[in-house]
Amino acid sequence: MKGFTSKIVHSDRQQAIEHGAVHKPVHDSVAFSFEDAHELAAVFQGKQPGYTYGRQVNPTVSALENKITAMEQGVASVCFGTGMAAIGTTMFALLRAGDHVVSSAFLFGNTTSLFNSFDRQGLNISFVDATNVDNVANAITAETKMVFVETIANPRTQIADLKAIGELCQQRGLIYVVDNTMTSPYLFQPRSVGASLVVNSLTKYISGHGNVLGGVVTELGTYDWGAFQNIYADYRKGDSVRWGITQIRKKGLRDLGAALAAQAAHDISKGAETLALRMERQCSNAQALAEFLQQQPSSSVEAVYYPGLPQHPQYQRSQDLFGRSGAILSFELSADRDIWQFLNALQVVIKSTNLGDNRSLVIPVAHTIYHEVGPKVRADMGIADTLIRVSVGIEDVEDLTDDFAQAFARS
Ligand SMILES: *Cc1c(COP(=O)(O)O)cnc(C)c1O
Repeated sequence: MKGFTSKIVHSDRQQAIEHGAVHKPVHDSVAFSFEDAHELAAVFQGKQPGYTYGRQVNPTVSALENKITAMEQGVASVCFGTGMAAIGTTMFALLRAGDHVVSSAFLFGNTTSLFNSFDRQGLNISFVDATNVDNVANAITAETKMVFVETIANPRTQIADLKAIGELCQQRGLIYVVDNTMTSPYLFQPRSVGASLVVNSLTKYISGHGNVLGGVVTELGTYDWGAFQNIYADYRKGDSVRWGITQIRKKGLRDLGAALAAQAAHDISKGAETLALRMERQCSNAQALAEFLQQQPSSSVEAVYYPGLPQHPQYQRSQDLFGRSGAILSFELSADRDIWQFLNALQVVIKSTNLGDNRSLVIPVAHTIYHEVGPKVRADMGIADTLIRVSVGIEDVEDLTDDFAQAFARS
């Protein structure tokens, strides 16, 4: 099977399932038993695969990990309770005090918050405009171990210089981590730009229904862990391609314990089967809605940010790397309009945080997710008081454009 969806839908059956079940069942047992004590010891010592304790391993979670690994064309994946846990545990397991990370300045806000915390705990993080590789190159020091970027930034939709940063990381021997949440492995596989590790929040497009939290990190097999000093002696065994992901599971998940629950893994697996179908629809809805907003008079809409519009600064990059431009857009209402009246006039689109849901969601960015950071950071990030983020869902597109049209008319 070659196709993206065929592989996900038939993934569980690649291993024997009890009673011929076509879904991997939910294994809610925390611990796993062995007939032979030798086997128990062999699994603990990593000499034999198997299940021991649910904080690090669970068969239902493994089934999801296998699906994600296939989607990302990787080597192995580790799931977590949330996307934040995936990012935090990965950095915690691989980096030590004094290590330096170059990060995009245009990040999911909670990731910026996490990196600021890590910076206070002894890592050094530089935030740069990663839409141009030169800014990343200029920030590298002798202590730099990792570069971290997202694909499409939220809310202003900047696209990192993904390919050139991959070449730079390969030349300099740096771990290249790409957060693929906004594009999902259906639109983009960071392996194609030389990424070492991919992070996905499973809460967003991969599960898709806004009803379950999860995160995952995938090893792509492109980084030489043999040359990386921070791998502990215990994990310098077997194929060096797996040393990094082994340390993330064995040390990171053990120490921090942010495991994904079996029921959550099962729910995410169900959602993941329709990722391609949903993503197609969401991207085409987003493209149509962005074009609709772009056509509004300047008395209604000041600016629209969507990488599928030719005037977007990274339009060509989006076409080349993703083909589509994702399902997040943002726009500034014109200054003489009242953002509250406009939002309250929407009838189909829901006022809520989150993104990647099947339902379209809007949020006034400066007053909610970027309220705490204050006006200086908002100005640096290009977040105007009238900026509205739209996470475009799978509704019939006319219902979305009609809803925006009536809201402009009534507010
Ligand atoms: C939502 C999100 C995360 C965090 O995921 P959670 O599952 O909410 O913890 C990380 N990165 C990006 C780009 C996200 O959109």
